Amino acid sequence: MSQPLSPCPHYIGGEWLPATGATTPVYNPSTGDVIAECPAAGQAEVDAAVAAAQAAFPAWRDTPPVERARVFFRYRQLVEQNFDLICRTVSREHGKTHAEARGSVFRGLENIEYACGIPTLLFGDSLKNIARGVDCETVNLPLGVCVGITPFNFPAMVPLWMFPTAIACGNTFILKPSEKVPLTAILLGQLLEQAGCPKGVFNLVHGGRPVVDGLLKHPLVKAVSFVGSTPFAKYIYDTGTQHGKRVQANGGAKNYIVVMPDADVAKTVENLTTAAFGCAGERCMAGSTAITVGAAADRVLPDLVAAARAIKVGRTDTPAAQPDMGPVISAAHRDRVLGLLASGETEGAKIIADGRGVKIPDAPRGFYLGATIVDGVQNNMTLAREEVFGPVLNVMRMDDLDAAIEQANKSAFGNGAAIFTANGRAAREFSLRVKAGMVGVNVGVPATMAMFPFSGWDDSFFGDLHIQGKESIQFYTQQKVISSRWFGGDVGDVWKK
Ligand code: NAD
Repeated sequence: MSQPLSPCPHYIGGEWLPATGATTPVYNPSTGDVIAECPAAGQAEVDAAVAAAQAAFPAWRDTPPVERARVFFRYRQLVEQNFDLICRTVSREHGKTHAEARGSVFRGLENIEYACGIPTLLFGDSLKNIARGVDCETVNLPLGVCVGITPFNFPAMVPLWMFPTAIACGNTFILKPSEKVPLTAILLGQLLEQAGCPKGVFNLVHGGRPVVDGLLKHPLVKAVSFVGSTPFAKYIYDTGTQHGKRVQANGGAKNYIVVMPDADVAKTVENLTTAAFGCAGERCMAGSTAITVGAAADRVLPDLVAAARAIKVGRTDTPAAQPDMGPVISAAHRDRVLGLLASGETEGAKIIADGRGVKIPDAPRGFYLGATIVDGVQNNMTLAREEVFGPVLNVMRMDDLDAAIEQANKSAFGNGAAIFTANGRAAREFSLRVKAGMVGVNVGVPATMAMFPFSGWDDSFFGDLHIQGKESIQFYTQQKVISSRWFGGDVGDVWKK
């Protein structure tokens, strides 16, 4: 009989604390085996984490930015040295292929590199003599205790979007990772500890809704960064702001890729395939709907269907040759995607590449789905409106670019959109008119890198300042404006005889 697994530890005030109480299973999606137990923190752990972060704040706030940056220079090196281990952990608990895990951890690493530049990123403005003898300057000061609540689909990258910048700005931080992928977060915390991050500056608590609520309503928490599905993002924004917090909450998405009749067929097929099926479609920047304009459908669809059918699905948890695509996160999620596909068929759409029956002989209990393309999707279908978050590409056919933009702009979301074309004017028109915060021109996944904001709109983002780039520095700091004037005093000007 196998030994019961010990629950993952919380990390509070620089101590790895054994967890007690109820747990939820963490799966290896490649096999369906339980590989860990994720505990649910209670109010006691929430209070302890906030108290530890609050106690650590004054000394960390007063640590010079160059010294704070040095922690992240060391962290960067440790993450690089442990890159393979982090990627294997991501693949094991999430199911990404090794190549996908490497790409995503690398994006996270770039956020650590960004945080290393904190001394210059914190520069303020100054103006001498705004009035006679009066000087004025802005200083960017940290907020205090910040919280990050992260989703399952990028176990390393999304936490790294948040805590390096927040901490480098002089804040202390509590990470609440997805209960489906706690192992990568633990590894990231262990490495930050090794990098010399002082006790209490970074804390980690596990769990679901109760711990989220405990953090969201805690009077000492100043700011909350959230990434996850739209209903929770909206809840986090509403509840957090009602409790006086600064909140940035990224939600779900439904991203359109418009294919014009003049698009390069081979490049478009290659990019659409990656955009739709990369990470098994479990990313907020997945290209989940292709809108073909005019003759583009006949030019592109035959090769696209062939490319989807050729995608090899399999286990990602072994060092063996990697498949093109791994499993989805859970049996329940796979069944939800299957349900959405069934609804599409009932509502009149046609499945032209069918990944539903995929079987992996050495992992019969894994959570697999093959690449699936659904043609003839109409705006009133459930499949068109809901985020699927699986390896499914909807195809909608339109007569011209205006109709394609109009369709894309009907979406409640506004994360990403892309166009494939050889025509600069069409690309320009699309880029400016499409209702999305991140646009690709012949780039299928226009996800932004560390120095640019991750700029979702509408139901893809609730808040004012986005994650990443200069906006993240503004989010994690508050400005003080100091106006100063110096009098001669009673003794007169000391430099004059
Ligand atoms: P999710 O919303 O289910 O969970 C996100 C986080 O919220 C987790 O830490 C979870 O534990 C916590 N949570 C659980 N119950 C909650 C509740 N009742 N109230 C508030 N929070 C709760 O998201 P997921 O399934 O882990 O991740 C997939 C979703 O994340 C997709 O919708 C995807 O589009 C989105 N996502 C968005 C971005 C972006 O930048 N816009 C990036 C990655 C993922």
